[in-house]
Amino acid sequence: MKIDRLDLEGFRNIKTLSVAPCETVNIIYGDNAQGKTNLLEAIWLLSGAKSFRGAKDAEFVRFGESRACIEAVFQCGGREQTSKILLDGKKTAWLNDIKKDSVTAFAGIFTAVVFSPSHLGLVKDGPAGRRKFLDTSICQITPRYIGMIGQYQRILLQRNTLLKDISYAPDLMDTIGVWDEKLAVLGGAIIRMRMEYTRRLMKEAQAIYNGISMEREAFSLFYRPFGLSVKEGQTQEEIAVQLRETLIQNRAEDLRTGATGVGPHRDDLEITIDSRSVRAFGSQGQQRSSVLALKLAESRCIGEILQEKPVILLDDVMSELDQNRREYLLNHLTGSQIFITCCDKGYFTRLEGGRVFRMENGMLELE
Ligand code: ATP
Ligand code: MG
Repeated sequence: MKIDRLDLEGFRNIKTLSVAPCETVNIIYGDNAQGKTNLLEAIWLLSGAKSFRGAKDAEFVRFGESRACIEAVFQCGGREQTSKILLDGKKTAWLNDIKKDSVTAFAGIFTAVVFSPSHLGLVKDGPAGRRKFLDTSICQITPRYIGMIGQYQRILLQRNTLLKDISYAPDLMDTIGVWDEKLAVLGGAIIRMRMEYTRRLMKEAQAIYNGISMEREAFSLFYRPFGLSVKEGQTQEEIAVQLRETLIQNRAEDLRTGATGVGPHRDDLEITIDSRSVRAFGSQGQQRSSVLALKLAESRCIGEILQEKPVILLDDVMSELDQNRREYLLNHLTGSQIFITCCDKGYFTRLEGGRVFRMENGMLELE
């Protein structure tokens, strides 16, 4: 996946911008509030996803203007393709000049991985973000997983509603076994898939983290099914049996709280360095390096499966990383097109190849 050309119009503080990035590392540097993250955000939108800053469509349109446009020419699947998004109160998308119902049509065609400071929540915050990270990645690789997650959420909601209803209609107790069974079967399959993906992700993330830390620190990932003791080689059926038994054992507690206490909706992905939780004990640099390793590992997993390496967008990753870590990052991400933003171009004196651009007041200039 390589962007040959990118054109923006009226996007955030960018009036017009036209750039031909190189196919390796593209550095975008400049002072604060000049439009560096805005540029990455525009590229990210071409993947069909929502803003990584949680922005609404209307916020993308430049103040005082009525429309914003993002256009790209990119290489994918061995041929040149084009995509265009127009935001003018509504959102219209074109892929190779054919109008699409929604930007989700770009998913799986224009693929990208983004790291921004907001993603540090992946290690710092609670397990929900980590489950979402796993689920989003697995969805890109195995599209039927999207339906599985949706169905699981529906079953969970039904079971929780039933738990509450039983308090004033005890007869309903007869039906809970049906929901336990459904939840366990689907839950077992989801846990198995997440464990398998975690193993795959860990292999890549360990190699990347080893490089970032000059082999001084050992990085590991563990999928932790909440309240179950699942072993690595267990099948989805075996996990389902265990989950169902635990649901039955915990029923009294579930009835009391009106919520389902075990299942993949409670699980976590534990991230450790030298066998200690990064969340509890990691330094800022280690936490940042861990998220980076996860994100870059994700891009490798997706690249391997889709046979196309996603574009990598790194927003402000350099601060808090020491010189060794920065150098590794810059010179070992071969084969992917990368966009990195930062305030200080001094970080890049040892960049081999690549292109450096300066962003000032929404205008981009090649150095
Ligand atoms: P930093 O180094 O601080 O991260 P940055 O170069 O990444 O800075 P951006 O986040 O890209 O900065 O934002 C640049 C500017 O864009 C901000 O000053 C913001 O007010 C402005 N901006 C955001 N949305 C719009 C919009 N819709 N119209 C015009 N300007 C906007
Ligand atoms: Mg920024």
